[in-house]
Amino acid sequence: MSFKTLGLSEPILRAISKKGYDTPSPIQAKAIPPVIEGKDVLASAQTGTGKTAGFTLPLLHFLSENPKPKYRDIRALILTPTRELAAQVHNNVKEYSEFLNIRSTVIFGGVNQKPQVARIKQGVDVLVATPGRLIDLENQRLLSLKHVEVFVLDEADRMLDMGFLRDIERVMKLMPDKRQNLMFSATFSKDIKKLAYSILNNPVQVEATPENTAVEVIQQKVHRVAKAKKTGLIIKLISEGNWQQVLVFTRTKHGANRLTKKMISAGITAAAIHGNKSQGARTKALAGFKNGSIRVLVATDIAARGLDIPLLPHVVNFELPNIAEDYVHRIGRTGRAGASGEAISLVSADEISYLRGIEKLINMKVDVEIIEGFEPDPNASTEPIKQGQNRNRNQGRNRNSNSRSSGGNKNASRNKNRNRRRNNNRS
Ligand code: AMP
Repeated sequence: MSFKTLGLSEPILRAISKKGYDTPSPIQAKAIPPVIEGKDVLASAQTGTGKTAGFTLPLLHFLSENPKPKYRDIRALILTPTRELAAQVHNNVKEYSEFLNIRSTVIFGGVNQKPQVARIKQGVDVLVATPGRLIDLENQRLLSLKHVEVFVLDEADRMLDMGFLRDIERVMKLMPDKRQNLMFSATFSKDIKKLAYSILNNPVQVEATPENTAVEVIQQKVHRVAKAKKTGLIIKLISEGNWQQVLVFTRTKHGANRLTKKMISAGITAAAIHGNKSQGARTKALAGFKNGSIRVLVATDIAARGLDIPLLPHVVNFELPNIAEDYVHRIGRTGRAGASGEAISLVSADEISYLRGIEKLINMKVDVEIIEGFEPDPNASTEPIKQGQNRNRNQGRNRNSNSRSSGGNKNASRNKNRNRRRNNNRS
């Protein structure tokens, strides 16, 4: 199948071929035609499937084929959970609209609002936004969503995990009732289905691939290891394997900082990316990682969500996530768009129960290898680690609501309950 047969216009096809894509990914093949037809779509797709082009291309097609030359109102709103994802989606929008008369911009918290407002004032057709800054600017009457014709909710599951439900509901009230809605989510919990029901009108449902396909193409391995020896082991793996581009996950921001420092002391270029880092520091770290000047990027789950790093060869779980679905998201950073990858998890005694939960979810046993000199501690407790999970979960929420004072604690406890529920469900 080619992009041409999907009904996209010539300037969009030109932009696609400039990007070097020749065949639509499965989610693109399935989502693009109904979106072009103006239907609401509910798509099951995670990062790495080509989902961004899956909604961006037909959205741009619709806007350019139905121009409103007199005004520059916001005609399409793409809502994403994190700043990084917003920036990446906007980059895609810019690339795909290069040959169209379409203007776009991106807004998110943590940076000065003035340039964002100035850009909006000049008039944009497509706005990519995180919820906090969007609501802030709307409250200040610096933007209007009254003319939105297409609404995209990207990574809806992560939105809910980060406590954005109320914000999404508020945003919905700011848009006209008559509009096209597209919702993307990697997982489909009861809450997500409820949200889909409230947003979408008779949606066409499309699925990228069965959930575990990505998992199957990635080579996964567990190294059982004593907790105190994890740092030594990861440094050995990276140095002796001569790995040049490694994404490492930790459970907490402090853990990410600590590990980054130790990597640097061991002579490995590394940077941490998490919610306590300024936007500038995060952008710089990501750019360094992409251009090869930084070998190791140490990230927390929320910071890494949606990062677009093509062809990532190695992902290491320095610590396993306590939410099994996050493991799938993490290792989905390798083997993107068909390339193969390797995902390694360093597992200490207190993470064994998380490993079992993950294996249950992915429906396979992960091979275990013990490396000489880095054996597990036979006396260590197998009591699961509790610290850090809620702090992580709230990271994105706080980031995006810097300038709003209320609601933080309520969200924190809401997330805490959610985490507790998810953990209970699993045990
Ligand atoms: P996404 O799931 O939207 O984050 O996209 C994952 C990666 O696949 C990105 O690096 C895209 O640039 C790339 N990609 C998207 N669509 C295609 C395609 N049809 N062919 C090859 N690569 C693609």
